[in-house]
Amino acid sequence: FAPWNDASEKPLITFKNVTKKFGEFVAISDLNLDIYAREFFALLGPSGCGKTTLMRMLAGFETPTSGVIELAGQDIAAIPPNKREVNMMFQSYALFPHLNIWDNIAFGLRREKMPKDQMEARVEEMLRLTKMEKFARRKPHQVSGGQRQRVALARSLAKAPKLLLLDEPLGALDAKLRQDTQFELMDIQESTGTTFVIVTHDQEEAMTVASRVAVMDHGKLVQVDTPDVIYETPNSVYVADFIGDVNIIEGTAEANGESVSLTWAEGQPALIGSANQPISKVASAAMAIRPEKIAISSKKPTDRTNVLQGKVLDIAYLGNISTYHVQLDNGTVIKAQIANTRRIARRNFTWKDPVWLSWTDTAGIVLAV
Ligand code: ATP
Repeated sequence: FAPWNDASEKPLITFKNVTKKFGEFVAISDLNLDIYAREFFALLGPSGCGKTTLMRMLAGFETPTSGVIELAGQDIAAIPPNKREVNMMFQSYALFPHLNIWDNIAFGLRREKMPKDQMEARVEEMLRLTKMEKFARRKPHQVSGGQRQRVALARSLAKAPKLLLLDEPLGALDAKLRQDTQFELMDIQESTGTTFVIVTHDQEEAMTVASRVAVMDHGKLVQVDTPDVIYETPNSVYVADFIGDVNIIEGTAEANGESVSLTWAEGQPALIGSANQPISKVASAAMAIRPEKIAISSKKPTDRTNVLQGKVLDIAYLGNISTYHVQLDNGTVIKAQIANTRRIARRNFTWKDPVWLSWTDTAGIVLAV
């Protein structure tokens, strides 16, 4: 389901030329963005890029210095925070320690004086949704960290907000639990149809849960798209480098129709790649090539465009894959990744083996620098 492909659907949230300054410091700079109903949208970027500020403006904890934020077509500034149908879930969960889980979930509903039977039905539904029925009578300290996270989610969703903001919601969980919880979050988002906006600096998390990802840098959006488009066709070296593992090879590009050739080091053959943005005739550029798109062989391949010779410097065996660091004659180190099928695991190549690296002419993306 991809509502943002449907041109007739109006966005749930619109940022129009939004700037946020703290004193002289520009935290968000002239930002434009549409987020649609039922999206699971991730704001991704390094510490300090403005993710939290963007989210806090949605929640109403900050106001833009200039520009407008609309929720369902209405300027958010005109809607008091308690009427916004926006809820925010914090990393610290902020559960009430003296209340049991049932009462924690019911808290917001009681406060808005929802009729008793309606409230009870709603709490039971939230307990079912987050698979916490069995723990309803326990206090927060009597359940695990992952379960507390689910209670916090149940409480945030109890009032059926249009928009749920999640600020690094899984930050406190260990890696394995974090992965399981990511899938639960996706299931819950899908079954409630609530729009989720998540802030994270973990690119794998953003790629896993989100239907669309916004990559941010210094208060600006650099690229906004589906995870696969961002991974396969990053629009800049910054994005290529931030999302996943990549080799960046700098040089001088020369455009030649669809393909671009990159002259990059003396004594090394020029590399051929594709450009997803116009490259002027001759320009300084970089090729971004993912390690898993590079093949390693002991014989010189004859069927590939880009072929480089080197020696194995390091091998990292990671179970499903192995990462090879291969050093070329000119000292450059290139990372290549090989999937370990049962038969070839561990024994492919060893340290100092002479090898050939190769990739096709569409595997490397040439980006302006
Ligand atoms: P992190 O991942 O570390 O939380 P972030 O991308 O969420 O980072 P923000 O919290 O949005 O970043 O902060 C963006 C920039 O604005 C930072 O440089 C921060 O120091 C600055 N900033 C945020 N809030 C304030 C404030 N109230 N006063 C002054 N500067 C602020």
